Amino acid sequence: GDSVFKNVVRAPDIPVYAVMVAYREDSSPVKLNLGMGVYRTEEGKPLLLDVVRQAEKLLVNDLSANKEYLPITGMPEFNKLSAKLVFGDDSPAIKENRVITVQCLSGSGSLRIGAEFLAKHYHQRIVYLSQPTYGNHPNLLAAAGLSLKTYRYYDPLTHGLDFQGMLEDLAGASSGAIVLLQVSGHNPTGVDPTLEQWEQIRQLMRLKGLLPYFDCAYQGFVSASLDADAQSVRMFVADGGECLVAQSYSKNMGLYGERVGALSIVCKTANVASLVESQLKLVIRSMYSNPPIHGASIVTAILKDRDMQSQWTNELKLMTDRISNMRRQLYNALRDKDQLAMDVVCLAGTPGDWSHIMRQVGMYSLTGLNPEQVAFMTREYHIYMSSDGRINMAGLSSKGVSHLVDAIHAAVTLI
Ligand code: PLP
Repeated sequence: GDSVFKNVVRAPDIPVYAVMVAYREDSSPVKLNLGMGVYRTEEGKPLLLDVVRQAEKLLVNDLSANKEYLPITGMPEFNKLSAKLVFGDDSPAIKENRVITVQCLSGSGSLRIGAEFLAKHYHQRIVYLSQPTYGNHPNLLAAAGLSLKTYRYYDPLTHGLDFQGMLEDLAGASSGAIVLLQVSGHNPTGVDPTLEQWEQIRQLMRLKGLLPYFDCAYQGFVSASLDADAQSVRMFVADGGECLVAQSYSKNMGLYGERVGALSIVCKTANVASLVESQLKLVIRSMYSNPPIHGASIVTAILKDRDMQSQWTNELKLMTDRISNMRRQLYNALRDKDQLAMDVVCLAGTPGDWSHIMRQVGMYSLTGLNPEQVAFMTREYHIYMSSDGRINMAGLSSKGVSHLVDAIHAAVTLI
């Protein structure tokens, strides 16, 4: 007989996955995947960090290990170490027991748990997102019942920060509104405020009573310094005020598929923090009961051991160096691109100013290529990337640069 689900309508494809599928199905030897935000080696391969492999060996050989359920809020040691990683070893908020941290399903799961908590227990349901922002932010926050608004962030003319616009929009925000901020390595723009700008943002938000909700998905991926990349959030904690932080280990430890992350809520007092924790338990219990062990055990093994921690930061440095190197190579190649004019080769470069590629930071560059140009590059050059013109620099390697530059050159010349 008929299916009881026969009236289900087909949902649209999720763009970043659709790009990945199209890339897989393309048999061209020159194809390039610069879409999904994952790190690739110079050989174009996924990277399992040596320090992660080492941690996994320790775990396998640990005869006292078991697979019992974790507490609802996850591994206590993992939570403590994660809070220290983002807030700093000497964070007074941690010492004063004003921070509660719960292990969640990576950055996405942490964002969702925080949003569920806010929708139930915070007086203001409006959350402001940067324009543009990570594609899944609107889904994760709206699904919890928050209403979405945007603040200006990216200036398409300078390919940099629209700082004035951002301040104006925050100044005009509804009182008490939640503001989602990316700690560093902003996705998709590669544009972060300077520390001076962060300080102005902080002052304005505290003055207006706006609630900061930080997304920390790229700590260490900008400067290779875990401390430097967390300065923005630490400024907001240092003033004694409240905030939320969703942390991910997907990129900085390469633990994408292990789904390991944490949500911290910094409160004014230890007493409030314990009330908040009691409610977070109810939120988590009703969604997935308790989090998985393996990824959190890897992170804990690395963070609690001095040598492994320094090995991790060495490997982080190798990843960030490779990304910076790709920025440099791509920018140089665009600048120096041969132009054939009247059969004479002259070094005039690809039309346009591409210096923003060097100014932007972290894993991404928002190139300024428009959707038509991206579609052209995919069709004619087998280059896969998101239609907003974002390039995942970590998906590029030296051997792909000249092909990418040929494609960009043709796209901006012809389209
Ligand atoms: N936040 C930002 C800004 C991201 O770019 C991503 C992933 O690309 C995430 C959160 C979530 O990642 P995950 O759920 O793997 O931690």
